[in-house]
Amino acid sequence: MQIMKFGGTSLADAERIVQTAELVAERARTCRVGLVVSALAGVTNFLVECRDTALANEDVTARVGRFRDHHVREIERIAQRLPGLDEHGLRRMLSAQVSLLEGWLDGVQKLAVCPDSVSARLLALGEQVSVRIMEQVLLALGQDVLQIDSSDYVITRGSLLEGTPILSELDTRFAALRQSGARIVLMPGFIGRDEQGAMSLLGRNGSDYSAALMAYGVKAELCEIWTDVDGVYSADPRRVPDAQLIPEMSYEEAMELSFFGAKVLHPKTIAPIAMHRIPTLIRNTLN
Ligand code: ADP
Ligand code: ASP
Ligand code: MG
Repeated sequence: MQIMKFGGTSLADAERIVQTAELVAERARTCRVGLVVSALAGVTNFLVECRDTALANEDVTARVGRFRDHHVREIERIAQRLPGLDEHGLRRMLSAQVSLLEGWLDGVQKLAVCPDSVSARLLALGEQVSVRIMEQVLLALGQDVLQIDSSDYVITRGSLLEGTPILSELDTRFAALRQSGARIVLMPGFIGRDEQGAMSLLGRNGSDYSAALMAYGVKAELCEIWTDVDGVYSADPRRVPDAQLIPEMSYEEAMELSFFGAKVLHPKTIAPIAMHRIPTLIRNTLN
């Protein structure tokens, strides 16, 4: 099985979402794919803003409307490209998620507190929506896709917003997916569950880590992180125009770079991948 992870940058709009699904479909012709997706670009930051607005006891109605309208617009645009898309089903799913968002924000506003257990559920909504959009896009492309709930696989300890995954749980929970099952196994990134059953997150940018955990669990032959740069550079290429692309690096070097702030990889991503020596590529969806 090969893992392909697509971040928000690869899921910026309808065109890129369909392009991403086509890339995955193409790969699924030759091997089974473990697919991990983040929220659509900017959505998690937006959910953070919603929570903070509610905490400041300001009106969140307009922001919730923007969350809904942004997703409705992209769903409509995808449907224009893929007439087979279950647009009504996706709109129903979105309404249900928006109702949850409204209800939780109302509670946060009234109580003027937002415990981590509520923050985790609020911030996970971006992935909860994007994973269902991706599932339907793949189905509309005629793909054999199974969507799994990451909180049945990624069990964490400690903080609910930046949990520590229990690696031994990954071995047992992913075992069934190793040999057989759907051609494409789709999982939302970022989300797990703690041992008491509360939803937990893997920290901001945590979908890279989710991909690494899936790669570890299924003992993947390859792990690809698809994003908006060609690989790891000597510095952030957005800030340092003459940064050099580093063609190849050891797990240790990658770990060091991400710990010192190379946002292209979540800092904890490399450890599980290194344990099984899984080759890992950073690839550019735009290139
Ligand atoms: P995604 O949404 O795909 O997860 P991110 O924005 O989290 O994308 O990560 C990709 C970004 O990481 C790039 O656009 C780039 O600006 C930034 N980045 C920071 N440091 C580095 C680095 N050393 N090499 C490559 N990209 C880097
Ligand atoms: N959507 C989450 C975030 O923005 C996880 C990720 O993008 O990797 O932090
Ligand atoms: Mg990222």
